[in-house]
Amino acid sequence: MEKLEQRIRREGLILSDKVLKVDSFLNHQVDTRLALEIGQEFARIFAGRGITKVLTIEASGIQFAMAAGIALDVPFIYAKKKKAVTLTENLFTSEVVSFTRGETYQVSISQSYLTPQDRVLIVDDFLATGAALVGLVDIVKQSGAELRGVGCVIEKSFQEGRGLLEALGVEVHSLARIASMRPGEVTYVREAEA
Ligand code: 5GP
Repeated sequence: MEKLEQRIRREGLILSDKVLKVDSFLNHQVDTRLALEIGQEFARIFAGRGITKVLTIEASGIQFAMAAGIALDVPFIYAKKKKAVTLTENLFTSEVVSFTRGETYQVSISQSYLTPQDRVLIVDDFLATGAALVGLVDIVKQSGAELRGVGCVIEKSFQEGRGLLEALGVEVHSLARIASMRPGEVTYVREAEA
């Protein structure tokens, strides 16, 4: 997505060769129009797949899952990272080992909202090691719903996430695929291949 790639180049802060900060428009302050366009792009990519639910993980995937849900005219669900007192019903739960944060946490959703009749699109802001998304894939599997694909806003293609998901047979589409980065320079996958 050209517009997104340009915005990352203009406003992204490269904190190390592995960490990109996009707090001015995606991750903290959110450019609402861009978020809606991202949702439309996911809807275009996954059109005709019969998606009935969009699934993400709190917190930074929420605005993109909501935008995709609006564009596909279906509900979105966000998996919760902590067991809330209101989450009293039966849960689908998976354990995520976060390499970024150096901790292990559980993600859960209520069993009421994902059934074997559902066809699911998983959406998230970043694909890095893939740990968070593998957790969501596991939740979809537990529910008996059918996973129709994963959409990521930014993929750091030099990390192992895509490989991990593809090894599970999951179709992955990312709107900006970063091949490499260093301060002042972002290279996207097709440019690196050219
Ligand atoms: P994973 O390593 O499981 O693929 O990524 C887990 C989460 O860490 C992502 O959903 C995202 O919220 C965060 N994350 C991973 N890499 C980056 C990064 O380079 N920049 C930012 N802002 N967040 C990241």
